[in-house]
Amino acid sequence: MTYWICVTCGTQFAESTQPPDGCPICLDQRQYVGHNGQQWTTLAAMAEQNFHSEVQEHEPGLLGIGTQPTFAIGQRALLVRTPQGNILWDCVSYIDQPTIKEIERLGGITAIAISHPHFYSSMVQWAGHFDARIYLHAADQQWVMRPDPRIVFWSGETLSLLDEQVTLIRLGGHFAGGTVLYWPSGAQGQGALLTGDIIQVVADHNWVSFMYSYPNLIPLPASEVARIRDAIAPYHYTHLYGGWFDRLVSAHADEVVQRSADRYISALAGDLKKVISAR
Ligand SMILES: [Zn+2]
Ligand SMILES: [Zn+2]
Repeated sequence: MTYWICVTCGTQFAESTQPPDGCPICLDQRQYVGHNGQQWTTLAAMAEQNFHSEVQEHEPGLLGIGTQPTFAIGQRALLVRTPQGNILWDCVSYIDQPTIKEIERLGGITAIAISHPHFYSSMVQWAGHFDARIYLHAADQQWVMRPDPRIVFWSGETLSLLDEQVTLIRLGGHFAGGTVLYWPSGAQGQGALLTGDIIQVVADHNWVSFMYSYPNLIPLPASEVARIRDAIAPYHYTHLYGGWFDRLVSAHADEVVQRSADRYISALAGDLKKVISAR
């Protein structure tokens, strides 16, 4: 029996002898089946291929954990260190003993929270190594490919964890249960927002975007973007961390999100004059 991993999206599936028939996450409009057809791997095969973890500090109390060489969607996870324990935000498929030892040295992982199904990856494997609970929004329950008693499905719009050190906020959009993590002590107390691609940092780091599908370039309707903009408006943060090592907004991120939503809505309304003059 094997826990197969989809090579295109990095999702680990429940134990089976044969690889699954297909990957529902890649068959969805928001993803795609790899150009050479559906392919599977395992953690053991990845170890043999010399995959390894890449750990980098983004700021005090915030570590990025990625995989080298790049695998599947290529995201990195974030370890948020708080006085009430560490929380792993988002996840990656690959995990090995050196990574586990390094994180244990930093106090282990108390909780895992994930923005959306594209980053569920090997979450159950990670949770098992650190005896952590996994907090997922209930609206995305159908996309869990490896069910586990450690998974807690939360519902509603917000959930505070670790004695209110962090708050999960459901923004929806890209996925119905799309979640971001608010870390008020981040950025030396000026606040940080961890977003995966629920809010996507784009090539110009003074702007962000919002999409239904990134690989297939399907936008969200204006009503959804306005709803996301208004739902996150009450929170103050100067740093915003997207889902990849190089996707960050490093100043006034809360204002960046508001004006990016307005620019997007102008574009959808056909008002290119407003888009061109957006600041
Ligand atoms: Zn897949
Ligand atoms: Zn995604």
